[in-house]
Amino acid sequence: MTDAAKCPNCGIQATFKGPRDGDRSGWFCGRCGEFELTGTAGSILRTRQDLPRPLISGWIQDQNRAGVTPSLGGNNVNALGSLTRPSLRERLDRYLLAAGSFRQPWGATLTLPTMR
Ligand SMILES: [Zn+2]
Repeated sequence: MTDAAKCPNCGIQATFKGPRDGDRSGWFCGRCGEFELTGTAGSILRTRQDLPRPLISGWIQDQNRAGVTPSLGGNNVNALGSLTRPSLRERLDRYLLAAGSFRQPWGATLTLPTMR
């Protein structure tokens, strides 16, 4: 079962990939990546407006690049609230890694996403 819905983290259109075991559900967001979410974590994301959404999105992307589909539960969503913004050097490294992941023919124009 997949449905279009809004990403519980960043709010853009995302794909709800259906229930997983327990009360977790699967999501794919073009900005954040692929993740699973418990009902408690979903409730926290809906109510806590102070959470650093771009940093949580970056954390999910980092997990996906490492081959992991992270599962967000009540405990780690609250812990993700204390993420700090990476240094400029680290953000540039990540940006270049993301740019390098696009497989384009040599000489093709490469359109990169906006750096967050
Ligand atoms: Zn998202």
